[in-house]
Amino acid sequence: MYRALLLCVAGLLSLTVRADAIECSMCETWNREQAPFRIFGNTYYVGPRGLSSVLVTSSAGHVLIDGALPQSAPMIARHIQQLGFKMSDVKIILSSHAHYDHIGGIAELQKLSGAKVIASDLAADVLRSGKVGGNDPQLEIIKPSPASSNVENLGARQSIKLGELRLSVIHTPGHTPGGTSWRWQSCEAERCLSIVYGDSLNAVSDDSFKYSGDERYPKAKTDLLASIAAMAAARCDILIVDHPERTGLSTIIDEHGKGDRSRLIDASACKRYAAESKQNFDKRLAREKQGG
Ligand SMILES: [Zn+2]
Repeated sequence: MYRALLLCVAGLLSLTVRADAIECSMCETWNREQAPFRIFGNTYYVGPRGLSSVLVTSSAGHVLIDGALPQSAPMIARHIQQLGFKMSDVKIILSSHAHYDHIGGIAELQKLSGAKVIASDLAADVLRSGKVGGNDPQLEIIKPSPASSNVENLGARQSIKLGELRLSVIHTPGHTPGGTSWRWQSCEAERCLSIVYGDSLNAVSDDSFKYSGDERYPKAKTDLLASIAAMAAARCDILIVDHPERTGLSTIIDEHGKGDRSRLIDASACKRYAAESKQNFDKRLAREKQGG
């Protein structure tokens, strides 16, 4: 009886704590536990198993990219601490694209760290309001995210600097109008590699949107093609994408964070990701042509 009551109170508590949790068909699978691990040098994976979140550290503070779902935020914060870092040292939070499965946790992570959120001008609007812009291809189906505070527009900057860290911007609009990928260098001993955090490059939309031409977002097709070309051209020794299964991360690193990290190094990864994205986009355009 007492135990049942305790369980009930615990259940209620978790309900109150996670009032902002988002439900979706994939959310539970995406949010499974993944022990944090070093990707290379000062770059660490801190996300749940199915949604990437990456920490890049420096003596002047850290940069976090993506916050997964709202319910992922406590897990990401715990992972950062498990690796021996302090949340208060996270100074900047960046993102790939402003959908709930990548920016959902950012509002809480921002509160826990006091970090500044920096995003492309279009994504910054979504982060501030929690609602996607009227030009989003998934406008009719996408769920809102918790609104973030202390959001700064990226503007025309080509890179973000923090101490010795420099993360270069690769604009990757198309999946969303404000999508962004990031590139930086990490070193282990004498070896330095170029790491890319890749945004989604797939043409997902609600039923009414057409990538081949739509008043809602007329540049969607040219944007996505340019983003795919930019990904193919990026200097890239390690690629981590926002949905990690797209590059088979889970086949290299298990849920305990164990695996052969050297297999993450693949100088053709960005080119392959771009080529697969182009193939999928061509198929989508062909379907639209057939009226499908
Ligand atoms: Zn998305």
